Amino acid sequence: MKRAGSKTDPRPDPLVERAERAGCRSLQVFTKNASRWQAKPLSDEDIANYKTAASKSTIAPVIAHDSYLINLCAADRLILRKSREAFIDELRRCEALGIPYLNFHPGAHMGAGEAAGLRLMIESLNHSHDRTDGARVLSVVETTAGQGTVLGHRFEQLAAIIDGVEDRERVGVCIDTCHIFAAGYDISKRDGYEGTLRAFDQIVGLKKLVAIHMNDSKAPLGSHIDRHEHIGKGKIGREGFRYIMKDDRLLKVPKILETPKGEDLKEDRMNLALLRRLAQ
Ligand code: MN
Ligand code: MN
Ligand code: ZN
Repeated sequence: MKRAGSKTDPRPDPLVERAERAGCRSLQVFTKNASRWQAKPLSDEDIANYKTAASKSTIAPVIAHDSYLINLCAADRLILRKSREAFIDELRRCEALGIPYLNFHPGAHMGAGEAAGLRLMIESLNHSHDRTDGARVLSVVETTAGQGTVLGHRFEQLAAIIDGVEDRERVGVCIDTCHIFAAGYDISKRDGYEGTLRAFDQIVGLKKLVAIHMNDSKAPLGSHIDRHEHIGKGKIGREGFRYIMKDDRLLKVPKILETPKGEDLKEDRMNLALLRRLAQ
């Protein structure tokens, strides 16, 4: 689950307790307001509060999602510089909190072309890793629907990014089911699902997969439109999620809901219950 849209920087510690009450075993949070560049630095008290909540909880892992403004392959030098500074700050926030994963979107090349975009992306990651030398948090690149000039909708692009990163131990990958389906990987049918997993393993490697965003898709296969739907209610449908939930290769990979939800999390409870039924 994740939250966005608040005006202030969110506190991650109450979210841990809330997720546990909803029956979650893993959790995705923002460590700052996701629609702003700047964040108030974490105080020692913020860090202590979060660490206490996390240590009392059975939730593991907690994953952070980066700000939506960050574009690590922006052709505009100013945006690129701001993106890199913000990304480094987010890596440091995760490190301070003991959050092991920072999930991010590869960004959009804005017309500069795929090759140029991937090159900038790789430079951004290497620069960010240099500036956070010794940090344990992984930069986790998320698959995208490929809307506009957004990169990361082909497994080959993810492989190219990982290939270019100097310290490969510091990168992981997150599959978003809605995004890959909209990008053209048909996980709604058995053979399409198997082919997708095989391709991912051959091109990226399943050992690089650190999380799955479990979202059904309002938009059709290959539409390159990113619209999340409740599990089983979209174009992927229950069967696609049954393949995932029953797949031993994915048993230990944390699965995160990014489906629509209200304050009481009743939708999350519903989606979790359905996924757990599909695993039977
Ligand atoms: Mn995302
Ligand atoms: Mn996602
Ligand atoms: Zn999405």
